[in-house]
Amino acid sequence: MDLQLNDPSLLQTGLFINGQWLDREITLDVTDPATGKVITSVATASAEDTEQAITAASVAFDSWKMVTAKERAAPLQRWFKLIMENHDDLAKILTAEQGKILAEAKGEIAYGANYIEWFAEEAKRIYGDTIPQPSNDRRLLCIKQPIGVVACITPWNFPNAMLTRKIAPAVAAGCTVVCKTASETPLSALALAELAKRAGIPDGVINMVVGKASIIGPTLTASPTVRKLSFTGSTEVGKILLKECAGTVKKVSMELGGNAPFIIFDDADLDATIDGLLASKYRNSGQTCVCTNRVFVQKSIEKEFSAKLVEAVESRLSIGNGFAEGVTNGPLINKGAVSTVVDLVERSVAQGACILTGGSVSELGENYYQPTILGNVTNDMPIAQEEIFGPVAPLITFETEEEVIDMANDTNVGLAAYFYSRDIGRVWRVSEQLEYGIVGINEGIISNEMAPFGGVKESGMGREGSKYGLDDYLEMKYICMGGLDS
Ligand code: ADP
Repeated sequence: MDLQLNDPSLLQTGLFINGQWLDREITLDVTDPATGKVITSVATASAEDTEQAITAASVAFDSWKMVTAKERAAPLQRWFKLIMENHDDLAKILTAEQGKILAEAKGEIAYGANYIEWFAEEAKRIYGDTIPQPSNDRRLLCIKQPIGVVACITPWNFPNAMLTRKIAPAVAAGCTVVCKTASETPLSALALAELAKRAGIPDGVINMVVGKASIIGPTLTASPTVRKLSFTGSTEVGKILLKECAGTVKKVSMELGGNAPFIIFDDADLDATIDGLLASKYRNSGQTCVCTNRVFVQKSIEKEFSAKLVEAVESRLSIGNGFAEGVTNGPLINKGAVSTVVDLVERSVAQGACILTGGSVSELGENYYQPTILGNVTNDMPIAQEEIFGPVAPLITFETEEEVIDMANDTNVGLAAYFYSRDIGRVWRVSEQLEYGIVGINEGIISNEMAPFGGVKESGMGREGSKYGLDDYLEMKYICMGGLDS
């Protein structure tokens, strides 16, 4: 498949270890979910390759940690600039392997690059502390130091940004990384590695392996050299990795699944709400961990709201190949993802939900699911209890603020929540009572590099982005200097 890139050498297919591109006999095909066509094949890593990447990262750490934050910032800034200069090519690669529309792919490239620019700057501000001493013969202080070799495991839904969100703070803080990207979408990651090399990030600081999770995963988690794991993916896999990391007591960051409520109170601006909901629910065809999973509508405005939403979905959303003009929603990542959505909708309809629009696989092909709205949903139905990861909005009604907060919090996860209201008292009450790591008020898209991203409960631990995001890659050391009286 010819992507017609300005720079075809961005389409790398090797393992990236110690600054070298390595071919391997065992490869995996990367397919375009929009067409089912193979884009190219990439080399896969064995356990030995993974060990080699860990060793390269460990050797590189010895020197990288000694480089000052200001000096580390320079190649990171060059990397950021190269990404922006190759914006169009990177977006094409992303759309081809992931399926999201080109405009969203462009958005992701810029969003992902912003983390690099941000952390290149922010690492210059890794401050310590002096602590008042308990006696005058000593002085106490805290310094922060990079943790060491970091393993990063990332999913396919944001093949670029999930990676930069980890690599940027880690590398800016002085750590080195071994990244395992999702098998569905390795090309965006490998293109990033190529640009990191061109930017002059030293060999071994960033290593990239692709291949079987069952081989690479346990090699990374069992290694005593890897001091930290940063994972984005499903709660199920996160729990496996947490157990594996216990063996070597690694520090972990987990960005796991969500079940985002989107609450519409009767005082909301309904047109703004529709805009926010379309963005929060249907972007990337519903395949983000912060995508709206449950839409709660106050009973008194249910009819008006659901009519407006059906009208908006039918007139404003259009599915198709992400490269085509006018398309707003691409395919889902694969047939398995579609089957999960089909199953969730079927089970919920069997329990009394009704289809207000959409509700089936599109005639465009097996990877396409129609933008869908379900009415008559209750909070105990499968569609409200499980993560949908597809373009389906289930509508649930509520009468009171207390009732909707209880329903919104009645889940084992807590990543993002959204609500629309113009009542300032309610805005504070609801924001504070929602058991979520991220709350959007009168906004459907709220993530950026300046703000902390992460969840509570089984949505994980740690924060990505913001001044807090660096702490995940730093150890605090307490230093007590004694014997000062003599
Ligand atoms: P998704 O539903 O987004 O595919 P997963 O949690 O299955 O979420 O996958 C996220 C990332 O974790 C991918 O890179 C995948 O290959 C990897 N992965 C899946 N299972 C394991 C495992 N047991 N050990 C290590 N990595 C894994």
